[in-house]
Amino acid sequence: ENVKETLGFQAEVKQLLHLMIHSLYSHKEIFVRELCSNAADAADKLRFEALNDGALYEDQPELKIWISADKEAKTLTIRDNGIGMNRQEVIEHIGTIAKSGTKEFFGKLTGDQQKDAQLIGQFGVGFYSSFIVADKVTLTTRRAGLTQEHGVRWESEGSGEYSLETVDKDSRGTEIVLHMKEGETEFLEEWRIKAVIRQYSDHIAIPIVFVNDKGEEETVNKANALWARSKNDITEEEYKAFYQHVGHDYEDPLAWIHARVEGRQDYTVLLYVPAHAPFDLWDREAKTGVKLYVKRVFIMEDARKLMPAYLRFMRGVIDAADLPLNVSREILQQTKDMEMIRAGCVKKALDLLDDLAENRRDDYAKVWENFGEVLKEGVGEDHANKDRIAGLCRFRSTASDEPTVSLADYIGRMKEGQDKVYYVTADSLAAAKSSPHLEIFRKKGIEVLLLTDRVDEWLVSHLFEFDGKSLASVAKGDLDLSAVKSEAADQAEEEAPKAEEAKALVERIQEALKDEVKEVRVSSRLVDSPACLVAGEHDMSGHLARMLKAMGQ
Ligand code: ADP
Ligand code: MG
Repeated sequence: ENVKETLGFQAEVKQLLHLMIHSLYSHKEIFVRELCSNAADAADKLRFEALNDGALYEDQPELKIWISADKEAKTLTIRDNGIGMNRQEVIEHIGTIAKSGTKEFFGKLTGDQQKDAQLIGQFGVGFYSSFIVADKVTLTTRRAGLTQEHGVRWESEGSGEYSLETVDKDSRGTEIVLHMKEGETEFLEEWRIKAVIRQYSDHIAIPIVFVNDKGEEETVNKANALWARSKNDITEEEYKAFYQHVGHDYEDPLAWIHARVEGRQDYTVLLYVPAHAPFDLWDREAKTGVKLYVKRVFIMEDARKLMPAYLRFMRGVIDAADLPLNVSREILQQTKDMEMIRAGCVKKALDLLDDLAENRRDDYAKVWENFGEVLKEGVGEDHANKDRIAGLCRFRSTASDEPTVSLADYIGRMKEGQDKVYYVTADSLAAAKSSPHLEIFRKKGIEVLLLTDRVDEWLVSHLFEFDGKSLASVAKGDLDLSAVKSEAADQAEEEAPKAEEAKALVERIQEALKDEVKEVRVSSRLVDSPACLVAGEHDMSGHLARMLKAMGQ
């Protein structure tokens, strides 16, 4: 039963450990933040499970994190009374990297320490950051609900393997003992530890208690939920530190919105836009996103249920004051109240994006670069907010190589007599630009949006008009630009063959292509090219047809 077994780290863990120790050395104090962050998450999880089973609290309902140092033994101990882990959970969570996007992450590493340190920061190193300062880590844990002989001890020197044994642990939760490396004893100094906690972990909602050699306890952090405090009392630094905790990110967020909404449902929402795309942006299973609390009690973390998929890059918390605490996650997802809160939070998220788009253009350009393709999904997904989302979209066009053109910009500079927003869809910018369909538009000086993202076909199949102007593909249906005057184009039109004159030719071509095309017509679309393919008004565009074919459909 009680044998000590030795297991190997997953290959990726070894690689990560090695890299981290070398490249994050200049930020070594982050291990404190990581371990406190994990302890706080463990407290959240316990509180949630205890909603249905109060016995999990045993005789310790007050959740805390304790930190103590032993200068003689050169150890730093971080202990919590949160949910803890069973043996299987230890194996799955400590010693493995379960994060989605891990493979992509390793593919991106360059070997350049400076660059890799940045990447590692984005990826999140969590528990393993202990090995930046420790040459041995002993983690002892017992899951809430298990009896005391079901404790588990995990120990490793961070070199490639770890040992695991079953032990007795009388208190619930997790204790992590860091055996500090030679030269890292600064973290055994009381003032140093306290300073790091105040700097990085002040926002943690449960007390972080420093225990000195005499056993005296002192709470070091503010220990209240940041989002529940008044906006005026929260500094920018505090908002940023909190983001790094909820967003599992090392970089500062780009922007945030913090609001208390009162009405049929009272709730507080604090949402952040990250400065870069997370590794799992395209992973449909990815979970991190927005956390739901009810009266400060953590309920769930599931981006999809709290935010629509097209806002899955948002991070933050929603704290509902009026939902019943003892509801299950399943029920919660179906209530009208939850729907109202969700709709309100979506509105806040769009407010934030609108504000950036209007007042911080450079930052909005970054948002668009990172999340534009995701946001575009919303046009087809969120009927109620379709126009707002369309208004947030930015495109390349024949007038701009950068994706900075909004539909409003486009409409604002439409030519006299022009009544539609024209676009062309293609696989690449080069293909879009060289489309023969654009010839007449160039000649007439009419701007055309160049749509080259995969999601664009989906976008235009849901967006028929914007601000009263219909959207039209340059490659579809009849095209009548006669109302848009332009000398150069008028001349070209005059020189073009009239339908009557070309009748015989058209008939011959029609005959030759009768199995390939529906119809052959004389067109005013072209200026330099002799012919082009046009789809019917209600047919699939040529680009979409090619895309589907490439996907085997
Ligand atoms: P992350 O926090 O991003 O998931 P970490 O490396 O920090 O990554 O932690 C990995 C996992 O180990 C956590 O998700 C959690 O399941 C588990 N874990 C770590 N620390 C604790 C703790 N103090 N109590 C309970 N579980 C923990
Ligand atoms: Mg963590």
